[in-house]
Amino acid sequence: IHKQVMKSEKMEVVSHLAASVSHEVRNPLTAVRGFLQLLLRKNLSEEQKEEYLRISLDEIDRANDIIQSYLLFAKPTAGKIEILNIKEEIDRSLQLLMPLANMNSVEIDKRVDDYFVKGEEKTLQHCLVNLLKNCIEAMPTRGKLRIETFRQPDGLRLSIVDNGKGMTEEQLARLGEPYFTTKGDQGTGLGMMVAMKIIDSMNGELRVVSKPDEGTAFHIRLPLVEAD
Ligand code: ADP
Ligand code: MG
Repeated sequence: IHKQVMKSEKMEVVSHLAASVSHEVRNPLTAVRGFLQLLLRKNLSEEQKEEYLRISLDEIDRANDIIQSYLLFAKPTAGKIEILNIKEEIDRSLQLLMPLANMNSVEIDKRVDDYFVKGEEKTLQHCLVNLLKNCIEAMPTRGKLRIETFRQPDGLRLSIVDNGKGMTEEQLARLGEPYFTTKGDQGTGLGMMVAMKIIDSMNGELRVVSKPDEGTAFHIRLPLVEAD
């Protein structure tokens, strides 16, 4: 009985999400349509054209983000389960975020070793990108992003720590709630929900420590796969 209750609660969340995803995706699509229509106009300057194209691309990325987050929430392990080197996955995720990190002048302090975990590559990367991106976004003008791995008796510990805005107790309590965002139009409020769901699906644990104006630390524990 307990299990069934859990399942129907989850279905409720999923169907609520399905309804709002279509709503959420409509906004960026409407924006893209508007800008493409503007591009049809004659005698636009090169700068205007570029600007409209850039906004359109951003909005398409946003729509893609929302859909991807929803898919991962509904079906977190759709791909192949493999043994993954956490160091490589962190490097790939960071590569994706380099432009954003550079734009915010974020210094990256990485102390990561070869550790192996079991999971689906795209999914793990999505999780890491969501967490790292939040940290970088919390440091809009300079800051330090520290990424560390170490072995603990209960598995791998991966810490992702920023010295940015931090969160109030209320914000921290709402972290992971669908659509909770403090970023207005720039945020989807889906990133943490998905990241938490993925860590859970890998039998891991996430602990978050945060203080306003001091920063945020994500401590992730994941079961280790011992290398031969
Ligand atoms: P989004 O990034 O689209 O707002 P998320 O689910 O990724 O959605 O994050 C939800 C909210 O949690 C953010 O809007 C922000 O207020 C807060 N948050 C998450 N990570 C951090 C962080 N590293 N530092 C400060 N606040 C954070
Ligand atoms: Mg986010």
